[in-house]
Amino acid sequence: MNTEQVITMLRKNGHKVTPQRIAICEAVLSNKEHPTAEIIFKKISKQHPTISMTTVYHTLDLLKKLELVHEINFDNRVTRYDSNVSVHVNVICQKCGKISDYESEAIQSQWNRIVSAIKIKPVGQRLDAYVICEDCKG
Ligand SMILES: [Zn+2]
Ligand SMILES: [Zn+2]
Repeated sequence: MNTEQVITMLRKNGHKVTPQRIAICEAVLSNKEHPTAEIIFKKISKQHPTISMTTVYHTLDLLKKLELVHEINFDNRVTRYDSNVSVHVNVICQKCGKISDYESEAIQSQWNRIVSAIKIKPVGQRLDAYVICEDCKG
């Protein structure tokens, strides 16, 4: 989804579109590394020094409600944001916390089968694989 589409979507849903909000949306939606709110905040505050953590959280919440990002919560209370909202496996390194996405048509078709078997359309899903990544192995 490009910036124009995000702006249109925010407006359509009655939300104010501010330069800060746009910057946050762009930073989250273009980041494939499943960033935390803090990482987004640090990135944005370089260009928007007046930005607050509250604005970041509000905007992330908004994106979540519009189903443009998924929230991934962990036991240690760290929340990461995933801009990939299609069915995929999050490959998570248990040492460094790096998350990369694994996608394939097989997952999608298998998932469709599971969904038709449970007969209730899920409102979301989360598929995780826990690994020790190549960088952490050595
Ligand atoms: Zn992901
Ligand atoms: Zn690692």
